[in-house]
Amino acid sequence: MKFATKAVVVGQEPESAHHSAITPIYQTSTFVREEFGTPQSHEYSRVSNPTRSALEKCVASLEEGKYGLSFASGVAAEHAVVSMLRPGEHVIAPEDMYGGTFRLFTQVLEPMGVKFSFIDASNHDELEASITPTTKMIWLETPTNPLLKIFDIKAISKIAKKHNLLLVVDNTFATPYFQKPLLLGADVVVHSTTKYINGHSDVIGGMVIVNDEKLYNFIGMYQKSVGAVAGPFDAWLTLRGVKTLALRMRQHEANAWAIANFLKGHPKVEELFFPGFEDHPNHHIAKEQMTGFGGVVSFKIKGGYAEVKDFFGRLKIFHLADSLGGVESLVNYSTEMTHGSFPIELKKKLGISENLIRISTGIEDAEDLVADLKQALE
Ligand SMILES: *Cc1c(COP(=O)(O)O)cnc(C)c1O
Repeated sequence: MKFATKAVVVGQEPESAHHSAITPIYQTSTFVREEFGTPQSHEYSRVSNPTRSALEKCVASLEEGKYGLSFASGVAAEHAVVSMLRPGEHVIAPEDMYGGTFRLFTQVLEPMGVKFSFIDASNHDELEASITPTTKMIWLETPTNPLLKIFDIKAISKIAKKHNLLLVVDNTFATPYFQKPLLLGADVVVHSTTKYINGHSDVIGGMVIVNDEKLYNFIGMYQKSVGAVAGPFDAWLTLRGVKTLALRMRQHEANAWAIANFLKGHPKVEELFFPGFEDHPNHHIAKEQMTGFGGVVSFKIKGGYAEVKDFFGRLKIFHLADSLGGVESLVNYSTEMTHGSFPIELKKKLGISENLIRISTGIEDAEDLVADLKQALE
């Protein structure tokens, strides 16, 4: 079965009691036991719920994975994965990553004794050199937020396998429509389903997808023990969103191309970041491991804080907000918003500067979006 079909079909067989075509919202905390002493598929909704199970099956199949686990947020999904680590164990992660993930690692995990090395993951020698006897995991996010660097999943998975490390990939930006990390050698995929997978900016959610049964059992144990699960209504909304993922991603990408082409060479643009361009430093890797370049475009406006403020103030269709991947176009001021928790020195080093603007293209008409940017820049 192909991607767009699976998004509509997998886990979503007509329900048996009343033959409803669409998976119902099983808004219940518990399930009545049919027979004393006989286990049944659903017993208590922290442990499992039919609406959540449908979502888990569907997204797992889109990632070409065996098992999916759905959480109340992207960071809860990430926490489930890093909860496998014990004090003294070590993780290698890129310096370029979502600010909330960085905060989880440095403010929750590090105080509990887990060690992190934040490195330039495009430098494979540096990556391999930072492996120590206690290293257990390599964490990747690609494309990165907000500078859209691309890391080579296949090459890094070879390093991970050689040293017997787990490779985790945050696939939020690409989605399985454009990139399938498990097929490229990753062991674990995590998602903020808040973004493209749900796609309508009305749910916070997260997901973990794995192939290995032992990993699944561990993370499943964590999921029911800690209980940061997606509620039935959130799972239902996300399942409704995922049905149109293929359609939406095509439109997001088409709009990203239109915007990137408009911004390219614009006199008010100092620097442009879009992995689709041949002169993007990692374009060749993106072409190799992705089937599209996604819906995010970042750029540096000529000037500084005042010019950014002026530009945001003039936009009519784009709204200034955190988050991305929804049907509506958003702009984000990364240095203060998504990356507010990053140390200033690291932001400087990476180029998350005070004139950097991230655009999440929605699914509106590209002509309207370009016209809005045009009037706001001029
Ligand atoms: C938003 C985001 C997260 C965190 O997800 P939440 O749903 O906000 O908890 C993690 N990784 C990336 C790349 C994100 O964009």
